[in-house]
Amino acid sequence: MSDTSLARLYKLHRIDFSLYKIRMQAAALDSGKEESEKLKAYMKEVDPIRSAAKKATNKVKELGDKVTTLNEKKEQFDKQLFDGTITNAREIENIQKELGMLSELIKATETELAEKKKALPESVNKAKETEKVISEIQKSIVSKRRNAVAESERLKASFEEFKQKRPGAASDVPAALLNQYEIIRKRRGDTAMAVVNEQDCCGACGLHVPEQSLVMVRGDRPTSCQGCRRILFIPVPTP
Ligand SMILES: [Zn+2]
Repeated sequence: MSDTSLARLYKLHRIDFSLYKIRMQAAALDSGKEESEKLKAYMKEVDPIRSAAKKATNKVKELGDKVTTLNEKKEQFDKQLFDGTITNAREIENIQKELGMLSELIKATETELAEKKKALPESVNKAKETEKVISEIQKSIVSKRRNAVAESERLKASFEEFKQKRPGAASDVPAALLNQYEIIRKRRGDTAMAVVNEQDCCGACGLHVPEQSLVMVRGDRPTSCQGCRRILFIPVPTP
């Protein structure tokens, strides 16, 4: 016995339902958008910590360089003072004065450097902690994006498969019924057919299906659910 009209429409509906589900899944793919937002917010939040560490690191380097330069200068004066090139008492006095000032400056710079160096690890470690968090979020974004791309490819292939089956299934359905079905499908934007469940309710919206509608469905006459307008169907249990 060949299928009833409604059974043939139901076959088409199964295909359309699959296509609809795939479209929904594709739209809901998680490409790490939430994580991207989280990362942006976190970067903003910890920017002062990271900037402070950078600044502190630069300061230590700057002071270190300054000490080196001052010591080089001091060495130069020491050399001039003791290599016998300068014999003029006034000049010697001037150099000694310069040396005294340099020594003080070196001492002051070294003291400042020591203080900054002492405080540096805490600042740097705090920044390192934030780097760790940032890296974790970035990894999660990359992984989600990769998964989303793979899943999207899979869905696309599956969609094509169902799409190819559709024309054949549609051509099996009587034109008037197909037309009715397509109008409901377009109006609803999702599916246009529903199975009546064991409680005699619409499997899609849950509304009870009256006896006379059940009789019509069993008689292969298209009947819409009073709640959702979907065309009702009662599958014949396979023996
Ligand atoms: Zn319904």
